[in-house]
Amino acid sequence: MATYAPPVQALIDELGRLPGIGPKSAQRIAFHLLKLPAEDAGRLARSITEAKARVSFCERCFNVTEGPLCPLCTDDRRDATVICVVEDARDIVAVEKTGEFHGRYHVLLGAISPIDGIGPDQLKVRELLVRLEPEGVQEVILCTNPNIEGEATAMYLARLLRPLGLRVTRIASGLPVGGDLEYADELTLGRALEGRREVDA
Ligand SMILES: [Zn+2]
Repeated sequence: MATYAPPVQALIDELGRLPGIGPKSAQRIAFHLLKLPAEDAGRLARSITEAKARVSFCERCFNVTEGPLCPLCTDDRRDATVICVVEDARDIVAVEKTGEFHGRYHVLLGAISPIDGIGPDQLKVRELLVRLEPEGVQEVILCTNPNIEGEATAMYLARLLRPLGLRVTRIASGLPVGGDLEYADELTLGRALEGRREVDA
């Protein structure tokens, strides 16, 4: 079996670790990059290095941010009594686009997935709990993805939060089941937020 030169194989291996990139795609992208002018490849490499160096997670909500706190956490006009819990910072962008939500966020950085060995301890659940009292939170909207992992995460959080006397709501169904929030159109996600219901857990 023919093998690639070590630097080429290293590039293919790294690309293959990215989400949604299978071995075939990794090879295709690697060879595309090798054909690029050095300047273009350098720009891509620099944008990765720079984003990693300058962007980190918000100390409070785990959104991506350039400072210690993200712009949504430092915006006093936002309603601190409502927290929208999402899996990923990308979902914040999706919810913001609906224009229906003016509270704060909390990013779990994933969802419960026993198959992948991800339990509540691997997510930012404890960090959510410590925010509730100091920030005067009255409602937590569970805005995790409408798939198995997202539902399991929402149920887990509902059971944890309801005894604390908070209003715990889940975005309404109507979103494509098994899908990702970020692919839902603004209108559908906006309606799902508006039609959120109390969770019986
Ligand atoms: Zn934040």
